[in-house]
Amino acid sequence: MDIQALKSHRRGLMIILSSPSGAGKTTLTRRLMAENSDMTMSVSATTRRPRPGEEDGKDYYFVSKDEFSAMIDEDQFLEHAKVFDNYYGTPRGPVEASLAEGKDVIFDIDWQGAQQLTQAASDDLVKVFILPPNMQELEKRLRSRAQDSDEVIAKRMSKSEAEISHWAEYDYVLVNDDVDMAMAELSAIIIAERQKRKRQLWLGPFVKRLVEGG
Ligand code: 5GP
Repeated sequence: MDIQALKSHRRGLMIILSSPSGAGKTTLTRRLMAENSDMTMSVSATTRRPRPGEEDGKDYYFVSKDEFSAMIDEDQFLEHAKVFDNYYGTPRGPVEASLAEGKDVIFDIDWQGAQQLTQAASDDLVKVFILPPNMQELEKRLRSRAQDSDEVIAKRMSKSEAEISHWAEYDYVLVNDDVDMAMAELSAIIIAERQKRKRQLWLGPFVKRLVEGG
């Protein structure tokens, strides 16, 4: 029996990573994607303007408010929310296609999105919250990106506390003090979640053949 081929018959995970801006989530997400070929990132639509270096279709789908409203009307979002002064939403189609292929999907969404997905799809969800080691570090990381104005940074800092207040709604909480350690912890969570019996659709037939001596 080809165990590896059998094992690919599994349900994909929906892995939500939430954190206040600047807690290191983007770095962790990029590393996860680089290390896992069977993982894909959900690209959100947003009405916010692109930051320097951000690419349409890769970082976000940058859309107008009218386009965003039309997507809501057409039920194109799995979830959507207003974050800061902009709208963000998770397009439904690509997520459903990836899960059907047995791929894990990473969502970089806020607590509002996590709550909505919990209501819609809780069986496949793994919710991870990433905390900064302290608030000074958070501000330092926000400033080192140097992409937002002072005013935006101050606003984001004040919103951080609100985001952090939702930490207890998550299955797992990491403190990103050391990125290698946080990465190891995140990988361990994903490996364990993949091993859950209900997600390994291949186990029933495998055990049947096993006891029949196949
Ligand atoms: P940023 O503007 O810094 O890229 O993202 C701001 C916040 O919006 C982050 O906390 C991010 O997780 C959240 N966000 C990004 N995309 C989505 C989405 O599709 N849905 C929800 N609910 N939040 C999102």
